[in-house]
Amino acid sequence: MDRADIAWRAASVAATVIREHGLNALPVDPIALAESLSIEVRAKAVSGVSGMLLRVGNNFGIIYSTHIPSRGFQNFSVAHELGHYFMPGHIDAVFRDNDVHRSHAGFASDDRYELEADHFASALLMPEALFIQAAERVGKGLAAIESLSEMCVTSLTSTAIQYTRCTDEAVAIVMSTGKRIEYCFMSKTLQEVAGKNRIGRGEQLPPGTPTSDFNKDPQRVRRAERTTGTSDLQDWIGGRHSVELCEEVVGLGGYGKTLTVLAATAAVDLEELEEEEETVDSWKPRFRR
Ligand SMILES: [Zn+2]
Repeated sequence: MDRADIAWRAASVAATVIREHGLNALPVDPIALAESLSIEVRAKAVSGVSGMLLRVGNNFGIIYSTHIPSRGFQNFSVAHELGHYFMPGHIDAVFRDNDVHRSHAGFASDDRYELEADHFASALLMPEALFIQAAERVGKGLAAIESLSEMCVTSLTSTAIQYTRCTDEAVAIVMSTGKRIEYCFMSKTLQEVAGKNRIGRGEQLPPGTPTSDFNKDPQRVRRAERTTGTSDLQDWIGGRHSVELCEEVVGLGGYGKTLTVLAATAAVDLEELEEEEETVDSWKPRFRR
């Protein structure tokens, strides 16, 4: 199953839960939802996991880790465990060996069940219809993502990812550590411009971009500093189309990771870009053999 299928499957299960439980306003409270299902939820200062799902007979319990002191992260952790509870096949899979499942929420795992639970958590806490309505009122780029993260009580990172899924703008978000790209999500509009090219997991950050310069000083990342600059889509993915990007960079503090929001500085029209390309091509000198 590819990543797009996983996201789609998780979002459709979350949509059913949202409908059946009448979750029609932001923020969605995953702890209240769990308790309404008689799932006991407890906070615990455990590290190395985001949370745990426990099974005792036919009863379930959720523990969420408080080692990252962020309501957004903790909500996401609880919603991730609810993902295992609601997604078909998860209970059998996560309790294959024993009755304690340890989670690593936050799109960092390659495990199918972990990823599916992450996508469920995003879709539960940031229901598409409510999120799109809210997004229309909050402007653009990093500022928009920060407002939405306050409204949904979700982490900056998970909000940024959901933003790329819901916006019509040409936007990408990139998570990086040092010189390395951890992952990237692109909006549909930017994917169309990018063609087959993608900002790849595990690749090096393009040198000379504001993010690459920022990450050279790990202290700036740790102090949660910020910077803004411009780069070009071609710096990131090569390809045929030059698109100027506003690059907003924010250090995520103790994680040692950096979040970058790339947004086209002007409206992007793929047809126009292709016409420009043809004009440039027609001016290039052609040599006879
Ligand atoms: Zn899990």
